[in-house]
Amino acid sequence: MASSTERPLSLDSAFPCPICRQGTIEAIVLTEAFACEFCRHILSANLAQQQVQVVDSSQPLTWGWNGQRWRLVRGDHAQELSMLVYLTAVVLMIIPAGLVWLSGVLFPPLTPTTGLSFSSIWAIITFTAHLSVVLWLIGEYYQIPLYVAAKVRIARSRYSSRQ
Ligand SMILES: [Zn+2]
Repeated sequence: MASSTERPLSLDSAFPCPICRQGTIEAIVLTEAFACEFCRHILSANLAQQQVQVVDSSQPLTWGWNGQRWRLVRGDHAQELSMLVYLTAVVLMIIPAGLVWLSGVLFPPLTPTTGLSFSSIWAIITFTAHLSVVLWLIGEYYQIPLYVAAKVRIARSRYSSRQ
């Protein structure tokens, strides 16, 4: 059953979009490139290797087509870059919130409070704020489908409300 639905990557049929996983990509006339009707990204095709590469993004991500679905192809420097992204993410989340928390421990309030102290609440807010920045960073860097689709939906709703 699986083999009947398998088909090679070619310019004369439509495929699911590897970036947003919502739309379909179709070949742009007279080019060796695909465009997505949902997220509008453009992907250059390498039919010999059955791969597409996004050309209008800061990250030149590549996906390989296995006849049924896309698989992200990691480049030579992907490993180092991923480590850098993770390291930045951890530092961004831990250091600022840790500093706020530490200052609360080193300089406790003069009047003892019941429940969560002001500095603990402030540390939690700091952590949450930095966590959202980190999630945005990772979503943007890896072009996570859920994130890309949400971004397109927000842009579309803004566009349609302006009409
Ligand atoms: Zn798309």
